[in-house]
Amino acid sequence: MAVRKIIRMGHPTLRRVSRELKVEEIGSDEVHRLVADMIDTLHDYGGIGLAAPQVNELIRLAIIEIPGGQTRYGDIDSLPLTVFVNPHIEVLNTTTAGFWEGCLSVPGLRGFVARPQHVKVTSKNLRGEEQNHELEGFLATVFQHEFDHLDGKLYIDHITDSTKLVFETEYERYVAAEEEA
Ligand code: ZN
Repeated sequence: MAVRKIIRMGHPTLRRVSRELKVEEIGSDEVHRLVADMIDTLHDYGGIGLAAPQVNELIRLAIIEIPGGQTRYGDIDSLPLTVFVNPHIEVLNTTTAGFWEGCLSVPGLRGFVARPQHVKVTSKNLRGEEQNHELEGFLATVFQHEFDHLDGKLYIDHITDSTKLVFETEYERYVAAEEEA
């Protein structure tokens, strides 16, 4: 296992569409090694999700791990570390809500993005078995953010008000402080 380098905005890989993994590839040593490296990388950099393109692998695979509990996003459900292969997202309710998002490939920034808040995700696990997740609220946002990476999209593409793209330090100083006040 090893920590891999997370590529940053401007690297062309982040703007390309990833390919689906074939069923026979999912159980391969290569994919298992990649996932082990991605887990190490996520833990080393600190974050709640990482998509394969962020470590320069153009395949439709992402990992998400949410500690849950009381956060600035409210009281959110936890999700143990889960691997999503070839995920498909279905929007169950188009009503949107906005959250301040950040991304390990866009370090130092935060941006306010509105997304649908009720989605269903169908994917495969590392054993190639189908798995289903239904997500609401902040978790729905997290999943859409991660899976956007598989289509070459970044959260900044969804920002409609450019005054709501700010540096993390200023976010903490002015936005979070304001919201807590
Ligand atoms: Zn991201």
